[in-house]
This record gives sequence, structure tokens and C-alpha cells, in this order.
Amino acid sequence: MREIPPVLGVHVFGPSYGESILLQMPSEDGRADRWGIVDCCTLAESGNTSSVLPLEFLRLRGVQTLEFACLTHPHEDHFRGFAKVLQAQDVAVRAWWRYGGDSHRTLEVYSRLRKRAKGAGDPEASNAFEELLAIEKALRPLKRARDPSRFRRLSGYHPRLYGYKTQDGVELRIAAFGPPATHVQRYAEQTAKELNFYVAADGSESYVRLEKATRDLHNIVSVVLLVAFGSARVILGGDADRRSWQLILGDTSRESQGDSLASTAVKVSHHGSKGSYCPAAWEAHSAQGPPYAVITPFPGLPRPEMLKELGQVCSKVYLTGGPGRGMGRPRVKSKRLQMGEYGFTPHLADLEGVVGYSLFFDASGRLFSESPLAVKTQ
Ligand SMILES: [Zn+2]
Repeated sequence: MREIPPVLGVHVFGPSYGESILLQMPSEDGRADRWGIVDCCTLAESGNTSSVLPLEFLRLRGVQTLEFACLTHPHEDHFRGFAKVLQAQDVAVRAWWRYGGDSHRTLEVYSRLRKRAKGAGDPEASNAFEELLAIEKALRPLKRARDPSRFRRLSGYHPRLYGYKTQDGVELRIAAFGPPATHVQRYAEQTAKELNFYVAADGSESYVRLEKATRDLHNIVSVVLLVAFGSARVILGGDADRRSWQLILGDTSRESQGDSLASTAVKVSHHGSKGSYCPAAWEAHSAQGPPYAVITPFPGLPRPEMLKELGQVCSKVYLTGGPGRGMGRPRVKSKRLQMGEYGFTPHLADLEGVVGYSLFFDASGRLFSESPLAVKTQ
């Protein structure tokens, strides 16, 4: 017998660089919860030995199966550590979802291009290509299954990527609101241009410019998900930009399904940047009252003026780490994760050691509990 009502758990990790969301979903039979992951992050800024926060959390909880893993877009602050999750012997991944606009092959070539850019002296090109290749390699068994429901590339609205009814008759459903199909098209064209260039490329300056153009475009294909549990609606915005939100708002296939943007909580897109802020989308999110908002900081983001702006359209803003590099970064002696029993919202000054927030919603859409996710410091 459950002592608490079935709740949807949303665990957002965002240790000032990178983000990852673990979804803890009540199961059909009321037994062990079901889990899914959206994006991945590590504690340290680089290095293969750094702690993969969501993976440690799953292991601590004894979770052995992820129903799905979703990569919203191919930026390092969203995929770092994903290869380790996919390779983990003790955690099985049932399905893989990612943004449309490229294929396994183009991603592989793109990874090589990044390596080339690094060789050509692009200081921003990192070792990320190695991780992307590792992810592709780790995905092979899933691809071999040739089951389209287990390997999805997302483009436009999808009403039901995953879902079921619990024993209480409450529906759990995950829908894709984005990326917008026109953005996927544009992204695919740019990627094709780059691949054509690659064939004839000599590692020149113009190549580096082209590569940067694609890198800057990644956000336009960011996946945007809706996780609905009864009346609780959680929107995970990835790094969607303002234009993506406008296209999602005008998406007639979504509208015809009556799938609104009204939300209980929003994982604010693109770390609360100005370029991702779409007032019309926030108006839609607030249709049933202002939502809770979770922001995962990135170096330089969110800016104080945007925090203020978001504070006016949300009922509460959770910041998973200090804004900007160096601020509020956890000083970790033991990497073991611990989870608070019941929540409190620290002020910005109290953020040390906090790498995320867990929010739990019941089927009526009420916030059941909240707690900071912290790394042990002693
Ligand atoms: Zn990002």
C-alpha cells in the first residue's frame, strides 16, 4: 500500500554547466516507478572520469531500467555523460529519442568535422566529438532492433511518444511539441551543406566558419517535451529559441489535438536566456495559473534581468546552480548524492552544494513536494 498518492517526480540536474532531467513516473500497477531521462550532464566540466549525476542518482535508487533516453540537441552541455548511461551494464535503456534533421551517419561525420575544426584552430571546438561518437556506438544494439518505436527522430508535434494509464485510471503521457518541422528542414539543409564541404574541405578558415554556423543552429532543433500526469503538465523546453516557441504556438496539428501549452511547471528553455524568452508562450503556459519554473544555469546565464522577468510570469523560480562559471559551483569531497526529505528553496546565496531540484506533482497538478538535490560535502 502506498502511503502517499502517486506522484510524478521531475528531478532536474543543472550544476552550472550542463543539464539532465530524470522523470520518475508512477507505473500501471502501482509497483516500482518507471523512469526516463532527458539530456545528460556531469559534475565536472570535462574529463571522462567525472561523475555522471543522473546515473549516480539512478544507481543510488537501484533503478535498472530507463524507458527512454532523449537527447534534445547535440550541444555538449546536454549530452555529456550520455555514453556512460547507454553503456551502463546495470541500467538498461529501452528507447532512444532525438531531434530530427540529421541521421546517425551525419552525426558521425559531424563529430569528425569538430575534430577537424579543433585541428584548424577553432578554440571552441572541444573533445565533444569523442563523446558523440561514443554515444553513436553505444546506440548500435538499439538500432539493430529495428523497432521504430525504440529509435525516434523527432520533427514537429507528436501526441504520444510514450504513455499508459495507471491503476487509478490516471493517464501518463509524453508528447513532443518540438522541434518545429521547418527548423528541422533548415537544419538538415545546413548539415548537408557542411557535409558537401567536408568532401572537398582542406581544413580552411571557411570550413571553421561553416562549422560554427551549424553549431549555432543546434538550438533551433531542440526537442520540447510535454510530460502529462492527470492534470499535471510539465513542459521540458530543452534549449528551444524564441522562434521555435512561436512556431510551436502556431502548430495547427498540436492545436487540433487540443494539446495546449498550459503547464504546471516549465524547465525554462536555453538556461533562461533572453533569446529563448517568448512572452506569448509564457502567457500560454499560464493559462491555468502561473507555473513553477526551473532554470539550469550556463556560464553567463541566466542574466539578472531575465530572472526578474521570469519571476513575474512564474509562481516560483528554482535555480539549480549559481549563474555563471565559478559561482555557486559545488565543492565536492564525496560525490555521493543525497536527497533532502522535504523541500526548501534556498536563496541564491545558499546554493553551495546544490546541483538540482526534485519536484513532485500529484495527478491534480498540485505540487506535492520539492527538495534540493545536493552533493555531500563532508
Ligand atoms: Zn544548453
